[in-house]
Amino acid sequence: GTKLEDELLRIQQILKAAEIDFVLYGSAKLVNTPLLVENVLSMCLKEAVTNVVKHSQATRCSVLIKQKPEEVLVQVQDDGIGFEGNSQQRGNGLAGMRERLEFVNGSVDIQTMDGTTLNIRVPNVIL
Ligand code: ATP
Ligand code: MG
Repeated sequence: GTKLEDELLRIQQILKAAEIDFVLYGSAKLVNTPLLVENVLSMCLKEAVTNVVKHSQATRCSVLIKQKPEEVLVQVQDDGIGFEGNSQQRGNGLAGMRERLEFVNGSVDIQTMDGTTLNIRVPNVIL
């Protein structure tokens, strides 16, 4: 599948329009990853970057894609104000991300220090 690669092109355009510098580490060409998993990862990446643009006030956003035999890690990092610096609203984006990830036995953890880092993990095999 090429879905994650397609989404990466889109988020690069979105970040460029928002004047946020973008860096990619790793390759979005997934091997050994079921299409369903790739679809979920694409959706998560899109929501994470949309949040960077909407909420973070960052100047820089990086995406790391790390493929291991057993799982894929997608890390989205920004150098913005973080969750604490934000008057947090109750949206649906992160909840929807968690719901979809649960469906494929994946997870997301959020670190907020010097900006925000999302670690999105999904196993390559759906049990
Ligand atoms: P929706 O996703 O439904 O359009 P939303 O983006 O506000 O609305 P979530 O995506 O669930 O909702 O995010 C919840 C809140 O977390 C946001 O309103 C914002 O305050 C905070 N937030 C999310 N991502 C970031 C980020 N990268 N930097 C700073 N704050 C963030
Ligand atoms: Mg959102």
